[in-house]
Amino acid sequence: MKIFGFLRSFRLRVFLILLLIAVLAAEVMRMGMLYNLYGRQLEQYAVQLGVELRICGDRMREADFFDGVSSEAVNSRLQQLSDRCEGRVLVVDSGFHIIADTWQTAVGRILIDRNVIEAWRGKKLVRRDEGADRIRMAWPVVGTRESEEGEQTLGVILLNASTDTMKHYAQEAERRSLLIGLLILISAIFLAALLGSLLVRPFERVARAMDDVVSFDQDLPVVSDYRETKQIVDAFHTLRGRLKVLDDSRQEFVSNVSHELKTPIASIKVLADSLNTQTDVPIELYKEFMQDISAEVDRENEIITDLLELVRMEQGGSALHVENVDVNTLLEQITKRLGPLARKSEVDLILDSKRSVSADMDPVKMTLAITNVIENGIKYNKRPGWVRIVLDADHQYMKLTISDSGTGIPEAEQAHIFERFYRVDKSHSKEIGGTGLGLAITRKTILLHRGSIDVKSVMGEGTTFTIQLPLVYIRDTGEKA
Ligand code: ADP
Repeated sequence: MKIFGFLRSFRLRVFLILLLIAVLAAEVMRMGMLYNLYGRQLEQYAVQLGVELRICGDRMREADFFDGVSSEAVNSRLQQLSDRCEGRVLVVDSGFHIIADTWQTAVGRILIDRNVIEAWRGKKLVRRDEGADRIRMAWPVVGTRESEEGEQTLGVILLNASTDTMKHYAQEAERRSLLIGLLILISAIFLAALLGSLLVRPFERVARAMDDVVSFDQDLPVVSDYRETKQIVDAFHTLRGRLKVLDDSRQEFVSNVSHELKTPIASIKVLADSLNTQTDVPIELYKEFMQDISAEVDRENEIITDLLELVRMEQGGSALHVENVDVNTLLEQITKRLGPLARKSEVDLILDSKRSVSADMDPVKMTLAITNVIENGIKYNKRPGWVRIVLDADHQYMKLTISDSGTGIPEAEQAHIFERFYRVDKSHSKEIGGTGLGLAITRKTILLHRGSIDVKSVMGEGTTFTIQLPLVYIRDTGEKA
């Protein structure tokens, strides 16, 4: 497992890339240096030999060597040349007789071959004998003869030279370059490992600093060397900010929940204690207190039910059971169910359907969401009062407006009424009922359906909630539900 982690590490990749670049660069340089080294050396060698042959030719001419005059100086020069190039020198005169041979075996013989003839015509020949690793040269010696006019070829010097020295030299150069290449490879490995760990270090520092963070207030104590590490640090700080908001809201939620759940229990405790501490309690008082206790239990139950609903909904859209719903019928059912409460509160419920609308939605959750809003309209109303529900739609959205003739909501509070446990008038909440979770549930449901809810309210005149929902439900993946 550890080895796989190492293979996937950024450090290893940086190391390999640097190593590859170094090795490639070294190899290209080496190949460039060695390219045709042997060939170039042979060319130079041939030029040197050519100079040598020219000098020999000059000496022969001066000594009238081609006219049969023997010259020790010329012979020893030819011998030196032959020894130095580990080869053989032959000299041919105008009758194609060999007049000098550094091996001394062919003097007096006639030699007519392609090279001699071409040289005789004035051509300086250099031939590389690949297989035998030798250079063959045929060199014309040009001069004037007393008996004849003009310049003419006096003779030809033939040289057969070994290229062994050059070859050894080239092989030696190749061996050395291999050694240098090996040294470069070893240094490159060390350098790449060093650079790899130096380059990766800032990222490791950021990771370590992140590990050390234990609270939301702690900044990353990292001096950001790279723009990329700075981006990571900035992204981390942004994420931390979001998490802090989430954590704050979670903590607030937990403390609100505890408070709300404790209130009915505290009331029950007070009622039960006062019954317990009294003796000879009249049965009427018992009954009255027990009714109060029962009401508090109902309230506790209501809070828990709403809380569970909200928590379930926070889990996301997967909790929705979407189907195509006849919205007109749905609204009729809701108003019918709320009829008794409205009559008791002397509130007129008016349903105004502009057209028949069917939309994709979770009918159970949407019924609860719409009921919450209409029920609020009834609860926070005058006596007598009215609640008017208007249903309309275009080709994309359905629009539901729920207006009431109620107390209205102060402008500053309007933004908060969708928050969990938020109530405008806390002092009367007990007699009116409610948990402060109704609108939070409604908003969450509508957002899960990718819709929107807005509120407009004028104090003393009434409140209007506007709900817009897409007729076709689109899931996250973009598929139609
Ligand atoms: P509750 O259970 O208290 O009704 P909600 O979340 O449904 O909780 O509503 C939050 C608060 O918004 C209510 O306590 C009330 O003060 C205010 N509110 C909601 N609807 C209306 C309305 N139609 N008219 C006036 N105030 C309203």
